[in-house]
Amino acid sequence: MEIVTYPHPALRHKSSAIKRVDNELKQVIRTMFELMYEAKGIGLAANQVNLPLRLFVANLKSNPEEGEEVVFINPVISKPKGSEEAEEGCLSLPGLYGPVRRPKFVHVQAFSPEGQEINLDLDGLYSRVVQHETDHLDGVLFTDRMSNTNQLACEEALEEFSGEFRSRRETGGIPNDAEIATHLAEWESRYCS
Ligand code: ZN
Repeated sequence: MEIVTYPHPALRHKSSAIKRVDNELKQVIRTMFELMYEAKGIGLAANQVNLPLRLFVANLKSNPEEGEEVVFINPVISKPKGSEEAEEGCLSLPGLYGPVRRPKFVHVQAFSPEGQEINLDLDGLYSRVVQHETDHLDGVLFTDRMSNTNQLACEEALEEFSGEFRSRRETGGIPNDAEIATHLAEWESRYCS
């Protein structure tokens, strides 16, 4: 398992709700935390490891010894309030940062892997992370939410990511679209039907 980068098609996949959690999925979740810490991130969505599942992990301290590890399964955001702009980055667009305007406050409802309901009223960084990661599950990237001017400023960087992706594909480092679609469909039928 590895973190996939733009423009990997899994990042545009709209994830389906998870219907069951088994030991293998719990192991996947553990690996997601490890990959997130290695990359010094504070949130990681399943799409970012090429899985079509509606879940993400977060730890605002990006450190297993500190902060709180939270797994959000089937998150639903509601009650957006206020508006705030702040700089964001993404482990699937490494090195790219830009300002994104989002609601300041949100409520999130989700489930833990043990089936316990999570209900949180969030603001600040936690609110932003939950919104950014939930966007991933809908196939939305933070660059999609930037102003037109800021999007233009990112165009060159996105072109570079695309070029690198194409060359990794040509050298066999990344499967073709049909193989990726088959892989996603297999995981979906296992956990989402
Ligand atoms: Zn991201």
